[in-house]
Amino acid sequence: MGEIIRVLIIEDSQEDAELLIQELIKGGYDPHALVVDTSEKMDGALDRQTWDIVFSDYSLPHFNGGQALMLLRKRSPDLPFIFVSGTIGEEVAVAAMRTGANDYFIKGNLKRLIPTVERELDQAKLRRDHRQSEEMVKHLAYHDALTALPNRTLLEDRLQASILAAQFGNYPMALLLMDLNRFKEINDTLGHHRGDFLLQQVGLLLSNVLFEPNLVARLGGDEFAVLLPKLTEKEDVHAVVHKILHALEKPIMIEGLPIEVELGIGVAIYPDHGANSETLLQRADVAMYTAKETGNGYAIYEDKLNQYSPRRLVLLGELRQAIEKNELLLHFQPKVDLESGCVVGVEALARWQHAEHGFIPPNEFVLPAEKSGLIKPLTQWVLHAALRQCRTWQEQGIRINVAVNLSRRNLQDAQLPDLIAEMLSTYRLEPTCLGLEITESAIMADPANAVEVLTRLSRMGIQISIDDFGTGYSSLSSLTKLPVSSLKIDKSFILGMAEDKNAMIVHSTIGLAHHLGLNVVAEGVESGALLEKLSAFGCDEAQGYFISRPVPAEDLTRWLHESSWGLK
Ligand code: C2E
Ligand code: MG
Ligand code: MG
Repeated sequence: MGEIIRVLIIEDSQEDAELLIQELIKGGYDPHALVVDTSEKMDGALDRQTWDIVFSDYSLPHFNGGQALMLLRKRSPDLPFIFVSGTIGEEVAVAAMRTGANDYFIKGNLKRLIPTVERELDQAKLRRDHRQSEEMVKHLAYHDALTALPNRTLLEDRLQASILAAQFGNYPMALLLMDLNRFKEINDTLGHHRGDFLLQQVGLLLSNVLFEPNLVARLGGDEFAVLLPKLTEKEDVHAVVHKILHALEKPIMIEGLPIEVELGIGVAIYPDHGANSETLLQRADVAMYTAKETGNGYAIYEDKLNQYSPRRLVLLGELRQAIEKNELLLHFQPKVDLESGCVVGVEALARWQHAEHGFIPPNEFVLPAEKSGLIKPLTQWVLHAALRQCRTWQEQGIRINVAVNLSRRNLQDAQLPDLIAEMLSTYRLEPTCLGLEITESAIMADPANAVEVLTRLSRMGIQISIDDFGTGYSSLSSLTKLPVSSLKIDKSFILGMAEDKNAMIVHSTIGLAHHLGLNVVAEGVESGALLEKLSAFGCDEAQGYFISRPVPAEDLTRWLHESSWGLK
């Protein structure tokens, strides 16, 4: 028996079809043939199975070869298509070849048939292989190797297309960005292959709760995205987010170990939060960042979260230059000891004096700097400037502790302690001259790394304070595990102390902190009445407009000499 070949013959003459089949058998093939004579039957034949080759008569009573060719090319571009006709003229034949037929024969003259079939089958196979490898390359270019999910490129393509469709159809759509909390810790503790397994499981869980046309993508690392290309109501996004959070509530088992997965989801909705893919991506990112900071599971983008308005984006581009060109400056705000009434230290607060936009407050550039990786040079600049000023004061006989604020990313920088040690020696300063302020959420975002870096810093003799205490979720007792010496109660509690509830919180926080051996600083003290109340509560130090606003170094030097709070 010869090689099986699946042949579809479009022919109204059974006899002609039979001649063709005999010719193939003579040539050593075992043709499994089907003869059809209408477009419906041809369609049905193409639906039913795959074919190796198609022969077609040119003119049939209810159909013609040109139509058959068009139909085939739409459905199977690789399949060889050969005309076998009695009536086909030279011109028609050439035209047919141009429209994609592979060859043609005059009925009764099938001498070339076998070599042609062999050649066409070979070429069809080559075309198929080529197409497959093209598809594979395309798949690789658009998918993530670890999870087989669509990657960032595909997500961006689909996002763009969805925005256009939503614009056209006048309906909302949403983009969700999420990343796993503490993935690095899991990865480091359990090893990379278990970390990879976890990512695959998360990808699978996400895919299981989100169906077409929604798209789940992995953007890299522990970052995933979900595209909801069509929402009936914007509010529907809440249900989807809850479904995701619910799906990931149960711990994922890795080699018998239950691993809790927590994630922060940021949501941006078209058209409310942006009309192009870049804006939506970036706003979902801002929201995700907020979700992670607050530990709330998810956050929907709000303008007030945005540190990235178009103006800010331009500014961010300029921030690097500003750092290099010394457009940044520090203001210093004193902290006073409530028992002695003396200044014990100052906090260095970054300012940006922009040539065009004027004064820009730190809340508008610190977070974007953190997101864009500029926080490292920014923090280094601040540390240098603060320590240089501390040196200058020492030379004027003013011994004062200068505190610098650190961001979350700084705590992941294992080189920071060495860098600070080097700077202290450059400026010939004792480590006790420097204080570092870190918010509790910055620590809680990545406790393992934070504790390591903070422990090294505190062993060097640097004082570490928890900033904005009360705004995060950490309990006071969890702070005892950290190498911190003081606690700064967030100004929102201090400013709100007229309310009994806040006053009670402040009072009990002070008591508990003392119990744990921590020094307590109140920030945001705007009035003498507040100061008295804080004194009565046993608060150790205070900082706020009532004492002094943050001011440039020269102004502070003057203030130190003139104010009743100043140097005694
Ligand atoms: P923070 O560390 O909590 O600094 C205290 C903020 O409260 C300062 O705002 C200060 O001007 C303000 N403040 C002080 N006293 C009062 C008061 O009596 N009433 C009120 N309403 N506000 C008061 P500022 O300078 O705008 O800084 C905001 C935040 O930006 C800082 O909060 C800090 O988290 C961050 N930041 C500032 N400089 C740097 C820096 O160099 N590096 C990093 N990573 N963050 C910085
Ligand atoms: Mg601070
Ligand atoms: Mg603060």
